Amino acid sequence: MAAGRGGQLFIVSGPSGSGKTSVVQHLLRTLPDMMFSVSYTTRAPRVGEQDGREYRFLRREEFEAMLARGEFLEHAEVFGCLYGTHASLLREAEQRGKDVVLDIDVSGAGQVKARRPEAVAVLLVPPSWKALQERLRARGLDTPEMVRRRLEHARQEIEQYEIYDYLVVNRVLEETCEQVRAIVLAERNRRAGLSPESAEAREAERRAAAARKEATQEQVSAILERFEAQTS
Ligand code: 5GP
Repeated sequence: MAAGRGGQLFIVSGPSGSGKTSVVQHLLRTLPDMMFSVSYTTRAPRVGEQDGREYRFLRREEFEAMLARGEFLEHAEVFGCLYGTHASLLREAEQRGKDVVLDIDVSGAGQVKARRPEAVAVLLVPPSWKALQERLRARGLDTPEMVRRRLEHARQEIEQYEIYDYLVVNRVLEETCEQVRAIVLAERNRRAGLSPESAEAREAERRAAAARKEATQEQVSAILERFEAQTS
């Protein structure tokens, strides 16, 4: 890989329905030197999920015992279930020479950034409240009450956008996937101290710069204002 040693952390957060799973899958599929951080959770597996692939599923008592032993780099309770990233993750990634992508919520992202400020954090933002509501309904996974709770939770997550380095508004999923990939490539180059020489590296740099928080926060606060109007 460009950076050479692995162990770089890339956090991808975003409300349910923001396209996060697709973005993470895209990174794993197109960047072979990237591994997924398989979190621990007390929630029950969904149809099609496999223990050790999407999550490591465990009972609440087991999770709490691990927590008491200080085994988690970060953890959070989301919709009544516990989720956590194991602290051994970084060592494993370094040993394997891989960077890591973490799909974690805003609270977890804050904890990781506090302990590892060099972690790169990306927040995916839905283009509007209405678009997110439609995506959640179309997924067909939730009751109307759960859709309402998710929308309210989405607002709370987006409100904390300041802890992120990059904000990507997901209008067209393929574009969003490419933009987050560009962020990874640009950050790897930066970390390796390489100036972007190839056309691909320059393009990644350009796309990443366009997604930096400083460049997108006005757009995001406008989206947030409309969210607040809908959910308050
Ligand atoms: P789901 O149950 O839908 O897979 O995930 C619910 C939420 O938990 C998502 O926002 C996801 O990003 C977050 N999440 C998954 N794993 C972790 C983790 O290890 N730590 C934290 N803080 N959040 C997580």
